Amino acid sequence: MSVAEQSQTRPGADLRFAVIGAGMSGMLAAIKLEEAGFPHVEIFEKAGDLGGTWRDNTYPGLSCDVPSHVYRYRFAPNPNWSHRFSSGREIWEYLDGVAREYGIRDRIRFNTGIDRCEYDGAVWHLTTEGGETETFDIVITATGVLRDPVMPDIDGLDDFEGPLFHSSRWDHSHDWRGKRVGLIGTGSTAIQITTAMADEVGKLSLFQRTPQWVVPVENPEIPEQEKQALAKDPARMDSLYDYLADRFQNTFARAVVGDKEELAKVEKACEENLATVRDPELRAKLTPDYQAACKRLIMSDRFYEQVQKPTVELVTDRIERIEVNGVRTADGRLHELDMLVCATGFEAHKFMRPMQVIGRDGHTLDDEWAEANRAYRSIGVPGFPNFFTIVGPNSPIGNFSLIMISEMQFAYIMKLIDQIAEGRAREIEPSREATDRFNADIKDAMTGTVWVSGCSSWYLDKNGNPAMWPWDFERFADEMAEPDLGDFRMAS
Ligand code: NAP
Repeated sequence: MSVAEQSQTRPGADLRFAVIGAGMSGMLAAIKLEEAGFPHVEIFEKAGDLGGTWRDNTYPGLSCDVPSHVYRYRFAPNPNWSHRFSSGREIWEYLDGVAREYGIRDRIRFNTGIDRCEYDGAVWHLTTEGGETETFDIVITATGVLRDPVMPDIDGLDDFEGPLFHSSRWDHSHDWRGKRVGLIGTGSTAIQITTAMADEVGKLSLFQRTPQWVVPVENPEIPEQEKQALAKDPARMDSLYDYLADRFQNTFARAVVGDKEELAKVEKACEENLATVRDPELRAKLTPDYQAACKRLIMSDRFYEQVQKPTVELVTDRIERIEVNGVRTADGRLHELDMLVCATGFEAHKFMRPMQVIGRDGHTLDDEWAEANRAYRSIGVPGFPNFFTIVGPNSPIGNFSLIMISEMQFAYIMKLIDQIAEGRAREIEPSREATDRFNADIKDAMTGTVWVSGCSSWYLDKNGNPAMWPWDFERFADEMAEPDLGDFRMAS
């Protein structure tokens, strides 16, 4: 049966959906809603193209450190991944290919940011940046987490006369090869950039504020023969997906939420990796004073080799200010530069804001989340009926394949949507009591995680609470299996 035929028969086919964001999770929502026979779905995207983080980030060396064969939609296997951890470009091309194959690319309303969502007791009114207002029954936000770049608050930043940009806004009109490049930060991004640049840069000054633990992970090419075998046998891709997911879930993901034995293995691998740095002085500078995996663990089997290249200088003196032609450190030295890149991370706690969200009785999301971002099972917020979020607060980011997480969250959201579509409720939202209980459980469970073992990281919110999932994968799978309708307020 075609989607058009299905839409005439399925209950709730007249429901109007707004999907906000056309990154990995917004695309998923659009595809799944269409597949379920809902014909009235508008997809709003603030930027001029799809792909979210894989559109924004184009820096040298960009790849995903989740294995590609599990970093894909379950319904769209890809036999052609070039590497175990494929490049950012390849991931973007994969997403673009899926969008074309499922016919959603042409339906995305690009350059159409949503400024405001307001519930009037029956429907949601969405106002675009251009000032137009449209009405929807159900809103799904898929606005990502690592979206808004943070520039460092350093004196003189605007004085620098050469090219200066954030790592997620790479300016490819300036060639860095053979030049003197400054790179601020030593997170996952900066480590990938350093590794990629070391062989061809004139000189790279890597400004490190805090050393990082780096676990060595090989990134082999996938042989042609293996790609062909996978293409011929989709079941093989499924088994590979399951195998990789299982390995992730039973090793690293357990290590961070309290499995001491697994954490000890991670620590040992990091320490052995660090020991490969030959110069004791450099090794000392690269040695963290906190537990491995407290900050987002860096995965690279090449960083230490590359940071030891004569083209790279690790600068650990504090940056005092930025000047016309370089960076001045606290020891008085001026590091002269042709280009300066800030790999200084993202504002990870805004979620869909600064979009204004006004729920039942004029209650705003800004007020609701003034103290902390509290959602029920990451997908909904009390007082905001028929308003759902993919990869909302306390989603398991970083521990698993985020595409898998989005698929599980959206499957759960679909079951709530069914309640509306099938006429069992006009409004559905998590109850206050269930949301408070969920967040109290999260708070308790966080004490056993590595994220609160004493370091600063973007995982922690302004109160020092990790915005993460503090349990293992089984618990997530269990919670996402079926909505507990007793935890929801349903009004007809
Ligand atoms: P990040 O992890 O937040 O790192 C930001 C870096 O900038 C830190 O080293 C930080 O130092 C430094 N910094 C910030 N402000 C500074 C200042 N004023 N002066 C000096 N240094 C400053 O950002 P990111 O590297 O872009 O990574 C963000 C997240 O994106 C990662 O954690 C990961 O989840 C994701 N990511 C994933 C991949 C992947 O392969 N899957 C690749 C890249 C990024 P401190 O440590 O001292 O704060």
